[in-house]
Amino acid sequence: MLGLMQEWPLLAHTIIDHAARMHGGREVVSRSVEGPIHRITYDEIRSRSLKLSQRLARDGVVLGDRVATMAWNTWRHLETWYGILGIGAVYHTLNPRLFPEQIAWIMNDAEDRMLFVDLTFVKLAEALAPKVPTLERVVILTDDAHMPETSLAGAVSYEAYIGEVDGDFAWARFDENTAAGMCYTSGTTGDPKGVVYSHRSNTLHALTAIQPDMLDISSKDRFMPVVPLFHANGWSTAFSVPMVGATMVMPGAGMDGKSIYEMLTQERVTITAAVPTVWLMLLQHMEEHGGSLPDLDHVIIGGSACPPAIIRKFQENYDVRVMHAWGMTEMSPLGTICSIKPEYADLEGEEKVALQSKQGHAPYTVEMKISDDDGNELSWDGKTFGRLKVRGPAISSAYYKNRGAEQFDEDGWFDTGDVAHINEYGYMQITDRAKDVIKSGGEWISSIEIENIAVGHPDVAEAAVIGVDHPKWSERPLLIIVLKAGRSATKEDIRDFLDGKIAKWWMPDDIVFADEIPHTATGKIKKTTLRDAYGDYTLPTI
Ligand code: ADP
Repeated sequence: MLGLMQEWPLLAHTIIDHAARMHGGREVVSRSVEGPIHRITYDEIRSRSLKLSQRLARDGVVLGDRVATMAWNTWRHLETWYGILGIGAVYHTLNPRLFPEQIAWIMNDAEDRMLFVDLTFVKLAEALAPKVPTLERVVILTDDAHMPETSLAGAVSYEAYIGEVDGDFAWARFDENTAAGMCYTSGTTGDPKGVVYSHRSNTLHALTAIQPDMLDISSKDRFMPVVPLFHANGWSTAFSVPMVGATMVMPGAGMDGKSIYEMLTQERVTITAAVPTVWLMLLQHMEEHGGSLPDLDHVIIGGSACPPAIIRKFQENYDVRVMHAWGMTEMSPLGTICSIKPEYADLEGEEKVALQSKQGHAPYTVEMKISDDDGNELSWDGKTFGRLKVRGPAISSAYYKNRGAEQFDEDGWFDTGDVAHINEYGYMQITDRAKDVIKSGGEWISSIEIENIAVGHPDVAEAAVIGVDHPKWSERPLLIIVLKAGRSATKEDIRDFLDGKIAKWWMPDDIVFADEIPHTATGKIKKTTLRDAYGDYTLPTI
């Protein structure tokens, strides 16, 4: 017997319909790339997205075509997503922080037909265009008054482009499993791999993301995604924020501590989300210049492990609740968030910070398990590390062109490449990327845990731990430290600081001071580069 409910395909652009109908007057406030603060409503965003759909259709863009964007978070970027989705084309976000050769490789792999690009990246687009034969047209996300001189053939301003149609257009209707978006993983090893979201996965994922134990967002909120839309599906914010009708505050190109602080305070932001490095910049700015965050209720921190020092500062100095999150491009991207379940309601002080340093528990639609190298499932005792595997309706079933097939097993589990333990209440903690874990004498040492503690030292700006060859133990940890400007901690100071906070056998065999630590295009520590740089380092313990 079948249920007698309506066939109502989960199409992602119905989210902006809902926002326009139920919360039509709510604003999307952006720091424009041109400079001034710009305000628009969901109702207007929907009308302009419809115009973009109509205009793209006139250019012959059809269901399944890939349309790339390389842009900061602004209302125009949001409109491009919905305009592309509305005719069944596929938004393909490009990360401008990648090397140009890598971007060209990705565009060719996806066979992008069009590119929507911010003023900031026009020069980059000029360099890319000759290398991407499928690219037919570049639209610059500005108006005619701000159009730059450009060698891009046929380039047009976005406002002129959508101004050529009247908006008398209806969204297309199609199967909910149709591709909606593409985002490539940064590919720190090997070529980047394309993740392809569907309308169904984006919609289900947004429904999951808005829950109180996840983003905890409602129409009363003013949400600022600092995480760029080009990073891991924008952490779903393009869908989840309009879905509940919250005000959206978009920081544009202003990603430094001062600009973020201005937007947070002037626009009375109640929820915000970004990687730890952004929050380090904000907190440093506030330490130097003072300030408070009276409207900010909570901050979602993920993308790499959130050091406890950041959690403490937000909560103790500024009364802002931290929600540590873990996810992956392949997971749409949210996997777990560390909200506090009733079992832990009484925790306070350092015990609470320790819990919040875990990446958290999974919502309905994300199943997880840990297993050993032979695939045997491990117990949830909060100690036993294993390979973290996940499955669910908004998790990749394959990469584009079937790359990386070995990460997917026949039972539908995706191997995240992360190593984690899970406790009795389902709180997961990442201890490492599988390739970064340090194998010492047959036991595993968590590089993340040592890094987290080291950055708690008042003189330390950043810390990274890698495994270095050791004849007896196979690998031992080497700690690389970047000191804050003008500070002068010594190896001994750092060692004393770590002493008692980690197991004795986890103590790094040596500590080196560096001017900087290399990062990937998504802000993670680039361990491969560090391993290349310190590969032949001779530990004093040898
Ligand atoms: P990319 O691979 O393109 O840099 P992703 O966002 O897909 O971008 O990276 C996902 C990986 O980032 C995860 O597999 C995990 O290793 C790491 N990560 C994300 N969030 C956290 C977190 N809160 N703590 C530790 N690692 C994290």
